[in-house]
Amino acid sequence: MSTLPDINTHFAEWYQEIIAKTGIVDSSPTRGCFVIKPYGYTMWELIQQHVDAKIKALEVENAYFPLLIPKSFLSKEEKHVEGFSPELAVVTHGGGKELEEPLVVRPTSETIIYYMFSRWITSYRDLPLKINQWANVVRWEMRTRPFVRSLEFLWQEGHTAHRTHAEAVEMSLAALEMYRSTYEDFLAIPVVTGIKSESERFAGAERTYTVEGLMQDGRGLQMCTSHVLAHSFPEAFDVHFQDADGATKVPYCTSWGFTTRSIGAIIMTHGDAQGLVLPPKVAPIQVILVPIYKTDEERGAVVTKIKQLYTILQQAGIRAKIDDREGMTPGAKYFEWEEKGVPVRLECGPKDLQNNTVVLANRIEHEKAKKKSFVPAGQVVEQVQALLQTIQTTMYERAKIRMQSQWHQVDRIADFGPKMETEQGWYQTGWCQAASCEAVVKQYKGTIRCLLEEKKHNNCFACGAASTVDILVAKAY
Ligand SMILES: [Zn+2]
Repeated sequence: MSTLPDINTHFAEWYQEIIAKTGIVDSSPTRGCFVIKPYGYTMWELIQQHVDAKIKALEVENAYFPLLIPKSFLSKEEKHVEGFSPELAVVTHGGGKELEEPLVVRPTSETIIYYMFSRWITSYRDLPLKINQWANVVRWEMRTRPFVRSLEFLWQEGHTAHRTHAEAVEMSLAALEMYRSTYEDFLAIPVVTGIKSESERFAGAERTYTVEGLMQDGRGLQMCTSHVLAHSFPEAFDVHFQDADGATKVPYCTSWGFTTRSIGAIIMTHGDAQGLVLPPKVAPIQVILVPIYKTDEERGAVVTKIKQLYTILQQAGIRAKIDDREGMTPGAKYFEWEEKGVPVRLECGPKDLQNNTVVLANRIEHEKAKKKSFVPAGQVVEQVQALLQTIQTTMYERAKIRMQSQWHQVDRIADFGPKMETEQGWYQTGWCQAASCEAVVKQYKGTIRCLLEEKKHNNCFACGAASTVDILVAKAY
């Protein structure tokens, strides 16, 4: 009955269609930019609330910096300008006149924030300085896909300065852990954390930590990153402090960001043939209440009961909504809310009124026996809470089993290179860390997603020499 493209054979088309059909995004007249509609934006708000609380728990404070940055700022750190130049949007005119110095629309805010840090940091007593901003950034991408890659996207960017290198590394790792737990515990998406190879590192970083996910079509997705910046970065912006010993020193800085790409990851990890499947913790509507009746008399009684149940659920902090649209069959409503990925449906009809029960339907189960349960109306809060928790946990477990089934241990590129075309997934292998060997992966349109802590392989996949580290290779978005 679904009119969606087949998720197994036409994943990209399925993605484009489901996000439009369910009111997550709409296309916009601006090339490469998308409108996030309320159903999608509510997910972002829920993610923001969750991440913001975690950021504050790390004693990082929120602030806001300008959207437009003097172009010369970008040039101050050599690698940074080299990395971002091709993606910059540059403002050359303002107020009808050509500007003396062009402004760039921020692709990220290190430059302007470190300029401000140079004014705010003078002594070791000013450290650590830990700032976050919630903002939009612009990167001139050529091929775009909603949430995954777009000209403008929303994110948070954390920027910190520390007295010692060890403190900066600790901060960067704390941000990485915050992101890992947000993906796994809040969005029910299993991830792998690791370090980026030199070629994939952030422009201006000494080290980039990454959170990587595997979408259900077997393609990798970089979920977010956390950087320990090269010392040249604060040096370029003249950030320095007087230490306790009287010496003038340059602080060690970190930056880390989490974006609306996470919404794309939710959709591409959990969706199924029926449509979206949203983890309860981030579902804008956790329970949809559908009244069932035939006559006007039945309608009155059932709707009154449904409204009572709605109030009880709301008061318990559960995001609920009543679908009392007239002239529409319950079946048509079920179909629509299943497609929108609402985790739990509560049905209540005349028979349920008599028995003082309600029916709970579970979005992620398809066998009739598992899908529906009859529960006493008086226990609706406890039962719904338990069901939401079960759905959240089961979604994570299922996604983890799938990721593990697509995780291959391999030794030689000659064997797995061609295989990556038909059988996507993670390919774990050994690497000698030579750039020339990394280039071999790219011939097969794969990339090194990250360096792992675990080491299982003794030889480099490309040259056969002794390997120094295990890596994950995949085709990625
Ligand atoms: Zn090698």
